Formats: sequence, C-alpha cells, structure tokens
Amino acid sequence: MSYASNDDEILQTLKRHFGHDSFRPLQKEIISDFLGGKDVFALLPTGGGKSLCYQLPAVMLDGLTVVISPLIALMKDQVDGLEANGIPATFLNSSLNKTEAKKRYAKLFAGEYRILYVAPERLMLSGFLEDLRQWNVSRFAVDEAHCISEWGHDFRPEYRQLSNLRNLFPDLPFLALTATATDRVRTDILTQLRLKNPKTYVASFNRPNLTYRVETKQAVFQQILRFAQSRPFDSGIVYCHSRKATESLADRLQQSGIEALPYHAGMTPLKRMENQESFIRDETKVICATIAFGMGIDKPDVRYVIHQDLPKNVEGYYQETGRAGRDGLPAACVLFFSPGDVAKQLQFISEKRSWKERDVASEQLRQMVHYSESSECRRKTLLAYFSESWPHENCGNCDNCQNPKKTIDGTVPAQKFMSCIFRVQQASGFGVGINHIVDVLLGSKSEKVLKWGHNRLSTYNIGQEYKRADWQAFGRELIREGYIDQNPESHSVLELTSKGRIALRERTSISLTQPTSVEKPERRSRLGQTGAIECDESLFATLRAVRKELANEQGVPPYIIFSDVSLREMARDFPTHEEQLSEISGVGLKKLERYGESFLNAIKEFLEANPDAGIEALENTSFPA
Ligand code: ADP
Ligand code: ZN
Repeated sequence: MSYASNDDEILQTLKRHFGHDSFRPLQKEIISDFLGGKDVFALLPTGGGKSLCYQLPAVMLDGLTVVISPLIALMKDQVDGLEANGIPATFLNSSLNKTEAKKRYAKLFAGEYRILYVAPERLMLSGFLEDLRQWNVSRFAVDEAHCISEWGHDFRPEYRQLSNLRNLFPDLPFLALTATATDRVRTDILTQLRLKNPKTYVASFNRPNLTYRVETKQAVFQQILRFAQSRPFDSGIVYCHSRKATESLADRLQQSGIEALPYHAGMTPLKRMENQESFIRDETKVICATIAFGMGIDKPDVRYVIHQDLPKNVEGYYQETGRAGRDGLPAACVLFFSPGDVAKQLQFISEKRSWKERDVASEQLRQMVHYSESSECRRKTLLAYFSESWPHENCGNCDNCQNPKKTIDGTVPAQKFMSCIFRVQQASGFGVGINHIVDVLLGSKSEKVLKWGHNRLSTYNIGQEYKRADWQAFGRELIREGYIDQNPESHSVLELTSKGRIALRERTSISLTQPTSVEKPERRSRLGQTGAIECDESLFATLRAVRKELANEQGVPPYIIFSDVSLREMARDFPTHEEQLSEISGVGLKKLERYGESFLNAIKEFLEANPDAGIEALENTSFPA
C-alpha cells in the first residue's frame, strides 16, 4: 500500500487543494513517509500544522483515511474546512441522529469520502470494525496520540482500543500525532500502537511568531482594557484563576465597550457552547476563561493570550499561550505578574494534604516564578523547560530581548537584605517572610515590627533608597540566585543558605537587576515582527466583512472561508484577476471557484474608491498577457 510520490506532485496537491505554497517544518518529510507506506510518529507544536500531515496524503491516495480524535467538538469544523476545499469528508460521533448517521454510512459503503473522523468510543461499537473492513481504508491517523498513555495528562481509556485496530489492519500505515509528549509518553505511544519501525519526527517547540512579555500587575483591569482597546479588531483570550474572576472581568470589559464573554466549567454546557461559538465566529472579540477553555478550539487567528493571574506551571503556560497565532501571523502573550499571586499560591500549596503534592506544586511554582522574573530570554526559558536549547543570544521577540534589563552592583542592598534576615533570626529565634523583612528595612511601624521589637534592630530603616516593590524584587532575586531559601512548608519563612552566609561574611560582590518600578512603554509597532504581513488595513477590514457575510450564509466560522493570512495578502497585493488571486496563500482551486468573485469584486470596488491605494502593488505586478 505504498505510494511512490514525488516532491512536485506533493507541492502541486498542496497548492491545488489547500492553497498553500510551502510546507511548515517537517510536514513534507512526514507526508512523504506516510504516503510511502511507513508508520510515522510526529511531535509538532500547536500551530505546527498537524492536520495537513494526513489530509494531504488522503487527497492523493485511493480509499479512505480514518482519523481517530477525542475532540468531538472539533470534528464538524474540520470537516467544514475540508469541504470548503472541495475534499469529501465526514465524521461519525454521538452528536448525529439516526437518519443522518445512516446517510453517512451509506456513503461510506459507496466509497464517497476521502476522510472520516471518529471518536475512539466508536471503535468499540459492535460491528464498527467489521464495517471498516469494507470501506477500503488506506491509512489511519491517530490525533492527540498522547491520550493513549496513562503517563500523560489526558489519558483516555478508550484509546486502548487502538491496539485492536492494529490487529485487524496489520499492514496499513499508522500516523500518530501529538503536541505534548514526554519521553515516557512517547515510548508508550510507540508500543501501545505497535508502530512498526516508525519514522519519528520531533519539531522545535519554538513558536517564532509569538511575542512573550511579562508585565508588573498593578491595576490589572485597566491594563487589560488598554490592551484590548488598542487592538479592537483582534480576537484574544484572557485566562483568569477563578470562575468568578472570568465573569467579573467579562462584565467590566463589556461595560467599557469591549465585546467580551466568560467561559468556565461551572456554566451550563449550552451557555459554554454559545459563548465559544460566538468567539469562534468573531462576534465576541475577547473570551475571559479559566483553563477549561481551549482544548476544543481550532481558531487560527487568536491574536493574543493574556494571563491575568500567575499560571500554576510552565507547561500549562506554554500550552495556553500556544493557542495564539496558529496561522503564523504575529500574536502576543502577556503575563501579568505580582508577588501577591505568588504568596496566594504558596498558601494554597501549604494547604495540600500530601508531602508529594506539595513538593511537586512548589517546584512547579518556582519554575513559573523563575520564568516571570528572570532577565533571560523568555523563549529560551520556555524551551529549556522542554529540554530544547535555544541557540541564539537574542530572540528579538520577547520583552527581555527587546528591552534588556540592566543590572546594577547590588552588593549593598543584598548585604542589607541578608543581614536583616540574620538579625531578625538572631533577635527573635524564628524566621519571617519576605514582607516582614521589607517592613523592617523600610522602618515600618507595623504591629508585628513593634511587638517583636524589630524596630530596635541595626537593620531597621536602612532601606529608604529603594521602594517596597524594589526590595521585594531584590529579595526574590536573591532567592532565585540561591542566597536565600524560602520554605513553603512553614509560611514561606526566609533563611540564609550557606551560599548566603558566606556572601554576607565575605562581602561577596553581587549583581542585581535594576529595579523597574516605572512602567515601560508598550511597543506598538508590528513592523519587522516574525510572520507579519504589512497590508492596507482598511481593505483588510473590508475583506473581513465580506468573509463574515459569506460565513454567516454558510453557517461556518469565518476562518473556514479564508484565514487572516489570505486576507492580509489580498490587502497587500490587490489581486483583481483570478490568476492573481490564485497566487494568494490559502487560495486553492475550490475556494477560488466558490469565493473568488466576492473577494475580487470587493477589491475592485475598493480600488475604484481609493485609486491611490494599489499603485505600489500595481507597479510590482506583471499582468498575464
Ligand atoms: P495543529 O493541529 O498542529 O495545531 P493545524 O493543523 O490546526 O495545526 O494548523 C494550524 C493552522 O496552520 C491552520 O490554520 C492551517 O490551515 C495552517 N497551515 C497548516 N499547514 C500550513 C502550510 N503548509 N502553509 C500555511 N498554512 C498552514
Ligand atoms: Zn527573547
């Protein structure tokens, strides 16, 4: 069942059926091997373009490609997307009524589809495997393959049925796809699916078009509002730590004129679905959500992901931010950081029952705080978490690389901070937390300071040269650098480590990050950003309106018609002939036929009304003779 393909043929299929001109990293290799009849395991990040790896072979091969996916909610959109490209596809799941399911079965027996999506539960239905044998199956693709492993975060017992599938179809090639797999899960996938001499592809998890930024959380609602107002046409997700927080944020944004809705697991399934649909259909710009939101959406044009509160771990943070910018256009990931959030989480952690849980949670929190406060490249820190090294000095696309933090000779403040810890311990016989140390340094007359007589220490009121937030940041930096230990087991009490004691005794020179209590101006320019497509923004807006109208007529999300990439390229190149339009990324034959005229007309009208707009583009275009 192998298929001798050549690169030209694959590229032509890519353009004709999907409208794309080139492959994303590793797509071509995966597709060639899978077409060639090999079992393949592919680990690609979100936005890496996993679907194409089985969709393109399905178009080239005779027979049916069966895709197993746990995400029932996504199947319809996937099938709509394929149909928009003229590729016959369908899905079977519990959402269909009997008549509809029957219709689809009949067409499956008649061999009318190229792609079939099913949930793993379906494999257990009596008779289904027998039916499969008669449908001329050519390939199997297992999406979200990590669900097969008990070591993964998303184990689905039904996935175990897949080994039966292998028994029944020992010679058909399998493609296993996932965006998350530790080494252990990876091995598990290979053995459970019994992949035969599989070709394994692991792409970089770097997402070059995402900008990472951490901002000090001050008046966070105002910060989020300003951000959303500065991007009125962009879709964004704001993650919040609690259900209540999602609702109150959505309310306040609404009141300030931003279309926003909440999403959390406490809402009725119907309400949840409505809000999600409204977001996917570009009717609501901002969704305020708990981490329950995201798995079930494929929206490629999420332009920003904001974390209003500190995430619990780096892996979650990476996955959540990963939902931005799947289309490859620039997108922003902003985290609002406050030491108060750290304290709150430490409190939660200390209330956990088991030792083990507390250990794991506090280590994860430590890494998250490190990400937030480090002056290293954010990308480098994130990738290191997935054991991937980042070979460059400056990524140019995170706050730390764009505005490197300055360091100062911090020997004096470090000495003051550490000796204050030492003096308190010496005088009282017990340790205290970071805030109390800062109180003493700043000469506070708080109840505790007075009660414990810490106003008589030699380190009392010796820190006036810095603000409270600066001292707190110094303290946390000294913790990160290993001079001080913070023990979450006992109310986050500070203690000098042996490194700290030596530094204090020997007056070792220590450099610290220069305090940034002043807010940095936001970088507004998108010029030069990775993946950016400069275009005429007003034509882009017009084309979005055309797209929305078509989407409404056909009852599909706008991105199914054309992605933002396609629209921006149109608003850059001003195509006025079919030939020119077909050069645009994402415009395949079927879409050209179906939607070409609507968009060409809109562009022509725009050019008539704005005769100067296209001049530059016209000069760069050679018309067909
Ligand atoms: P994943 O499942 O890995 O997150 P998807 O398959 O959903 O990724 O693809 C993400 C987006 O990238 C989709 O909008 C898809 O149309 C687009 N895409 C995939 N491959 C290409 C390509 N070769 N060129 C341009 N766009 C692509
Ligand atoms: Zn960087």
